[in-house]
Amino acid sequence: MVTDVPIVGRSKVPGEEEDGFMKVVADLDKCQGHGLCRMSSPDVFDVTVDEGQVIVKYDGEIPEEFEDGAALGVESCPEIALAIVEE
Ligand code: SF4
Repeated sequence: MVTDVPIVGRSKVPGEEEDGFMKVVADLDKCQGHGLCRMSSPDVFDVTVDEGQVIVKYDGEIPEEFEDGAALGVESCPEIALAIVEE
């Protein structure tokens, strides 16, 4: 069926690229290892015991169910060592 009515809220149409995904990158030169990110979102972040630096548990795409937590963890970092990359 062909229609002139705009489609609102769709995520994909045939021939269109897949929706993007969220990724979190860490700047280990800035990370001080105090773990506020882990406290905010333990599903996404951890901190090494010996080196005291953040570990982003998901190397590539953050699972959709953890995206809000990932964003919260990024915002909680006082050193601005974390950043969200939308791809
Ligand atoms: S809150 Fe920031 S500085 Fe602290 S451990 Fe997490 S990434 Fe590192």
